[in-house]
Amino acid sequence: MSWRVVADTELCQGHQMCQGEAPDVFGFDADADRVVLLEERPADVHRRAVQDAVVYCPAMALSIEEDS
Ligand code: SF4
Repeated sequence: MSWRVVADTELCQGHQMCQGEAPDVFGFDADADRVVLLEERPADVHRRAVQDAVVYCPAMALSIEEDS
């Protein structure tokens, strides 16, 4: 089963916690003060870090969607 990362830039408040958890997946647009997805479909090796980013995002702007 594959999975993808979803970032809601309306909810993102620019805390950048996600970058600390998964720097290969999450970037940052300093002008917009918003997260930028570097990888919408990261390799499975990044899944744990992305899950941590989802949990720790203070704005609850991140989620993982499973493809059926
Ligand atoms: S941790 Fe959440 S609020 Fe902060 S930049 Fe990432 S997505 Fe945005």
